[in-house]
Amino acid sequence: MNKASRLFCPALITPKNAVVKQTEQLSRSQKLLTDLGLIKSGSNGTYQIMPIAQRSLDKLIDLVQSNMQLAGGQKISLPILTPSALWKKTGRLEGDISEFYMVRDRSGKQFLMSPTHEEAITAMLATTSPISYRQLPLRLYQIGPKFRDELKSRFGLMRAKEFLMKDMYSFDVSEETARESYSAVSEAYDRLFQQLEVPFVKVNAATGMMGGSLSHEYHYVSTVGEDSLVQCTSCGFAGNSEVLTTPENCPSCQSSNLNEVRGVEIAHTFLLGDKYSTPLGATFLNTSGKPQSVIMGCYGIGITRVIAAALEVFSSEQELQWPKLLAPFDVCLIGPKQGSKEQQPAEVIENELLNSVGQLCGPQELLHDDRKDLTIGKRLLEAKRLGHPLTIVVGGKAIQQDSPKLEVHFNGGDKLELDLSETLKLVAEHSRHKKDLLLGNFKKEDGAKKSQAVGHQL
Ligand SMILES: [Zn+2]
Repeated sequence: MNKASRLFCPALITPKNAVVKQTEQLSRSQKLLTDLGLIKSGSNGTYQIMPIAQRSLDKLIDLVQSNMQLAGGQKISLPILTPSALWKKTGRLEGDISEFYMVRDRSGKQFLMSPTHEEAITAMLATTSPISYRQLPLRLYQIGPKFRDELKSRFGLMRAKEFLMKDMYSFDVSEETARESYSAVSEAYDRLFQQLEVPFVKVNAATGMMGGSLSHEYHYVSTVGEDSLVQCTSCGFAGNSEVLTTPENCPSCQSSNLNEVRGVEIAHTFLLGDKYSTPLGATFLNTSGKPQSVIMGCYGIGITRVIAAALEVFSSEQELQWPKLLAPFDVCLIGPKQGSKEQQPAEVIENELLNSVGQLCGPQELLHDDRKDLTIGKRLLEAKRLGHPLTIVVGGKAIQQDSPKLEVHFNGGDKLELDLSETLKLVAEHSRHKKDLLLGNFKKEDGAKKSQAVGHQL
């Protein structure tokens, strides 16, 4: 079980009248994350992630990994440093390279601090002893930091110079089987984004600097988004403005109610063909034993960005709100204040709850706010700002002779007064809902409301 008194959570305390030197633009959720001590600015555009936010990040990583493994992915780790020579071979150093971090070793050899790993992984395969068509398809992924020297880093983790990515690469014998890999990974993405329960749109995308023939982007719709999307207000269909050049009617339902909205790109999939495998010599031996270029796909998810953007979509100015599967803790338990008249009898109930709630949601998912020198009100305010899905307060009403009550606060403002068994029932329901999401059992009745969450494809 986790105790609030032990949590390292360096909240930002700004003295009154202080002149705050804001070095970068923060969105409302990023401001809350910083103020509450969940993230700290390292240097301009880089972030230090503190324990509470790290819990959320680790949960997302686990969820992403389970979905990648369901799609046949095998995890690897590639070095952050990629020799620049590889990027010369694929022609990717010929364009605008101002966003790349380049470093030299003591011998003068140049490396990129990788913004992406197509060259590195293709070269890895090219220098492996010849693989047979029988070993394909191969789907390899990693989760690690990526680097981009943003001219304007902003909105905290949403657009930082160093960020965490999941990148998967698929290798196939033909365009046809590469499309099967593409579908398998796309299916895993759709499931992941449904599990997160944040409405998302999936749009056909331009292939841009990656090259290739087929590409989709996944977006969260938010005013802080940097991409321009066209969305149909009748059916939810969406397209990227770059691709969908001002159509008059919705290609899906023919409605003319098309709106421009802002999207935060959280994931991207590309069918690459042999754009990387041919120049870097990544081949396999075909059925006649002849070497042939592998056909590739690549699939990214901005791990830190998913969390930042999901929080931005859900949170208010005052309170964070997390996707259920990503909340740092499921339940926060606040007991009576030290020295209050109810302290001793209420602590009996508090201890009972510590045990029974811990059993229902798992002890690691329970945060016990044991800072009894603080008033209930102060602890409750902080709990609400942190956005715990359920906060249970054992206060004066818990020791009433007739019908003792606990206060249960939901993320987002609602509050109920319940007895012990009703409270435990809520905790159990929350855990069951999470379990359903993990199993991919999405509620049918939410279908209409969450029609957007299914994703719309051009
Ligand atoms: Zn429509």
